[in-house]
Amino acid sequence: MSPENIFMQWKNWSGRQRASQESLVFVRSEADASALVSQCAQAGKTIRVAGAGHSHAPLVTNDSIIVDSSGLAGLLEVDRQAQEAWIRAGTSIYSLGGQLHDYGLALKNQGDIDRQLLGGAIATGTHGTGRNLQNISASVTGLHMILASGEQVECSKTVLPELFAIGRLSVGAAGLVSRIRMKLQKSAVLSEQIHVASYDDTMNRITSLVAENDRFEFFWYPGTDEANIKTINPATTEPEYPLGEEGGRVAWSYEVLPSHRPHLHTEMEYSVPAANGQACFAEIRQLIHRQFPDVRWPVEYRTVAADDIWLSMASDRDTVTISVHQDIKLDEEPYYRACEEVFLAYGGRPHWGKVNYLNGDDFARIYPRWHDWWRVRDKYDPGGVFLNDYARALRPG
Ligand SMILES: Cc1cc2nc3c(=O)[nH]c(=O)nc-3n(C[C@H](O)[C@H](O)[C@H](O)COP(=O)(O)OP(=O)(O)OC[C@H]3O[C@@H](n4cnc5c(N)ncnc54)[C@H](O)[C@@H]3O)c2cc1C
Repeated sequence: MSPENIFMQWKNWSGRQRASQESLVFVRSEADASALVSQCAQAGKTIRVAGAGHSHAPLVTNDSIIVDSSGLAGLLEVDRQAQEAWIRAGTSIYSLGGQLHDYGLALKNQGDIDRQLLGGAIATGTHGTGRNLQNISASVTGLHMILASGEQVECSKTVLPELFAIGRLSVGAAGLVSRIRMKLQKSAVLSEQIHVASYDDTMNRITSLVAENDRFEFFWYPGTDEANIKTINPATTEPEYPLGEEGGRVAWSYEVLPSHRPHLHTEMEYSVPAANGQACFAEIRQLIHRQFPDVRWPVEYRTVAADDIWLSMASDRDTVTISVHQDIKLDEEPYYRACEEVFLAYGGRPHWGKVNYLNGDDFARIYPRWHDWWRVRDKYDPGGVFLNDYARALRPG
């Protein structure tokens, strides 16, 4: 570990998560990362890998070693025919879009910002919206990982399938992911529209809004009866530059899907079964009216298609995600705890990268494969090298 790296303090995007780590280490190669992991394991140190720090949950904070993965970036092999590519895990989604587009390819979907690193995005099941569109982890077909022993392995559905099952949504606890093989799709020009409607009108039309648009989401702003409806569909015209404001962009998917989120906030998001989405949203709205009339930050409604990933929020079920936000200068906890009760009553699963107050027993109730996930994790990392306090506290007793 080079001395230049020592004593820099890691913090997340909102500044709410700060690490008192012994060392923030920048790795530039897999060989370097592998040697670092072995060295830490032998010295009894723990490691958390940092992506772009856009998680609200204490996933990266660690009082031992934090590894900045942004040096492991770049697009590797691209198979245009199979629409698949190996990508280094430290690649930002922001920079990936243009690189894939040079090959006529694109991610199948992405979230509403593109600042995450690919490794960070898949570790938490980051998603966009679309009734037929899955989260980013669901496009992963292979992983190259550095295990707690320092050994480098490749896994997929057919090679080390259990490692793959935990690695493609690992919450950073399975090992250092250095390369990711992703299923992609052909680049497409998309057209985005935003319009304002009343909340009641939005809810009355929501089934057709979800069904008739490839991507649909809405934000309801507490204190108003208005919803901002955003739809994104294949364009019938050529891309238009300069891109223009959000809500009127017509361009390649990687240019249209990300938004600009300059205002620092915290966020809680739960995924509920799709059939519960409207009722759950309505109850959150009533809760805000009744108990939290001062909240002004929006509540967001999106859809995500089911997948088969053990710890995915959309595991085995089509999903509606509902997010609540609060200013970083305000105490969000009473508000979020009240929302969490509602979300859980509707069968909700918390977003791994956002705020929740659940413990390991709660997760065991939520995820049928919870114990399997830990069994496999512990097999590949018996000494808990990749666990921080937060992850350790979730371990089944
Ligand atoms: C403004 C904003 C908008 C957002 N929008 C969305 C959205 O639209 N949809 C959505 O689903 N989420 C959204 N999120 C949440 C965000 O996508 C996730 O929290 C994501 O994990 C952040 O990625 P990151 O690169 O910042 O990772 P970090 O937050 O740095 O890390 C996340 C996890 O990944 C692990 N990790 C990172 N890299 C590796 C690696 N190479 N190997 C092993 N583990 C690794 C870390 O240890 C940690 O456990 C948003 C967050 C913010 C702040």
